Amino acid sequence: MLDGKIALITGSTSGIGAGIAQHLAQQGAQVIINGFGEQSVIDTQLAELSEASGRAAQYYGADMSKPAQIRRMIADIQNDHGPIEILVNNAGIQHVAPIEDFPDEKWDAIIAINLNSAFHCTKAVIGPMKQAGWGRIVNIASAHSISASPFKSAYVAAKHAIMGLTKTVALEVAEAGVTVNAVSPGYVLTPLVAAQIPDTAAARGISEEAVKRDVLLAAQPTREFVEITDVACAVGFLCSGAGKAITGTNISMDGGWTAK
Ligand code: NAD
Repeated sequence: MLDGKIALITGSTSGIGAGIAQHLAQQGAQVIINGFGEQSVIDTQLAELSEASGRAAQYYGADMSKPAQIRRMIADIQNDHGPIEILVNNAGIQHVAPIEDFPDEKWDAIIAINLNSAFHCTKAVIGPMKQAGWGRIVNIASAHSISASPFKSAYVAAKHAIMGLTKTVALEVAEAGVTVNAVSPGYVLTPLVAAQIPDTAAARGISEEAVKRDVLLAAQPTREFVEITDVACAVGFLCSGAGKAITGTNISMDGGWTAK
């Protein structure tokens, strides 16, 4: 159980991040969510999280592409609620295009949100974690941290790079009671994946059904999407006491994709 542990999950108003927030709340963590969305929807999510946890969940709306906003958010959370004990770097976006057409601004945004935000969050929370002698950092990477797919240059570059960050920080804090790991899902049918199906169909000149069958699930030997709750439970395990010896590693949850 994560009784009262203060847990920040970036990009948690949707998809995998929302599922991780729900699972950590069920384990008793005081959950802090972040991401974009309608205020009324966020209020409903906060009420559900608070009920699950028994502790008031909070929302901080920093834009994870803006380092100054990230630093301010972490400082505000630590002032308002105390040191962050669990950090899940989950915020991420995708863009699918051949390299010669890949928009510069999409490259910059993906590197900023999927990679640089994890650096800025980690840098801001690591001091208090070391001081407390306990901390958990989990980076939501991807099967694309190990394998590449065409037309996803920025995403694959960011996800490969986040493994370098994961391993390096794990070594730096190994004696301080702080673990740093990545979880690497295959395809999970969230809004991020649903949104790239039309672009992939256009880039490859095939139907959307064919993208699901022949592109997405073709990569996964199980031929099944990974469930959000599977990813959330893996994060929960890494955050538990039983996860204390696991650090600097990448836990694949990809239905066998990267076994090939
Ligand atoms: P999603 O689109 O459902 O959710 C993304 C979340 O990030 C949302 O809450 C959104 O508001 C937030 N976000 C986006 N830009 C932001 C910004 N600038 N500042 C703050 N928040 C921002 O996506 P998802 O599929 O749940 O993806 C979550 C993570 O899991 C990503 O890092 C993604 O790369 C990774 N992942 C997803 C899959 C998959 O198949 N869905 C597979 C492997 C890894």
